[in-house]
Amino acid sequence: MAPLIARSANPAWTSGGYGSLAASSRIECCEVQLEMGEKGKAMSASARKQVLILGGGFGGLYAALGLERTLALKRDVQLTLVNRENFSLFTPMLHEVAASDLDMTHIVNPLRKLLSHGQFFNGEVEHIDLISKTVTVVHGVNRNGHELKYDYLILALGSMTNFFGLPVLQHKAMTMKSLSDAIHLRN
Ligand SMILES: Cc1cc2nc3c(=O)[nH]c(=O)nc-3n(C[C@H](O)[C@H](O)[C@H](O)COP(=O)(O)OP(=O)(O)OC[C@H]3O[C@@H](n4cnc5c(N)ncnc54)[C@H](O)[C@@H]3O)c2cc1C
Repeated sequence: MAPLIARSANPAWTSGGYGSLAASSRIECCEVQLEMGEKGKAMSASARKQVLILGGGFGGLYAALGLERTLALKRDVQLTLVNRENFSLFTPMLHEVAASDLDMTHIVNPLRKLLSHGQFFNGEVEHIDLISKTVTVVHGVNRNGHELKYDYLILALGSMTNFFGLPVLQHKAMTMKSLSDAIHLRN
């Protein structure tokens, strides 16, 4: 099956604590779990259908939350969300962090806590192989690699700032896309 593209709808949001983000920043890999399948038989993780969501922004997170609701009773499906950061960022308020009107803790939410059934993998997507249905994800300072298998793939990796082919603009401009951009501008 071809990968799906998640489209975002920006919903209302509650704030989370940055301390808890730091505390939960450990790497969490796919665990091998034994669970009961629909027919009551014990199932290994490999026997379950793997739904892999790449990107934990508006699109990826809300795809995951929606699927968690609809697939909640389906124990033969494993949902995994991959994101570079271990938090989801509420971009509409990013400028308020840059202006020191808000603390960064007000606009980030830990992804691991937001998921109730699905699992979270904190890492960077490096390669997608559509033939073998595997995604290579690297994590940590050593950029250790992992291969995640999928049956269904949802792509929600967002976008990059467009400098319209103007190298001077790219070199001189301060971008406003990530939390580190806002902190850089604030400082
Ligand atoms: C400053 C600012 C203000 C905005 N204000 C508004 C607004 O008021 N209203 C509105 O409707 N929209 C607003 N937007 C636009 C809105 O943020 C985007 O439309 C929305 O975030 C897009 O959602 P997405 O899921 O496609 O991408 P994103 O939300 O960008 O999510 C993509 C996720 O994928 C992760 N990712 C990317 N590459 C990799 C990789 N290789 N490996 C692992 N993870 C990766 C990123 O870290 C990110 O978490 C604003 C955007 C900005 C920058």
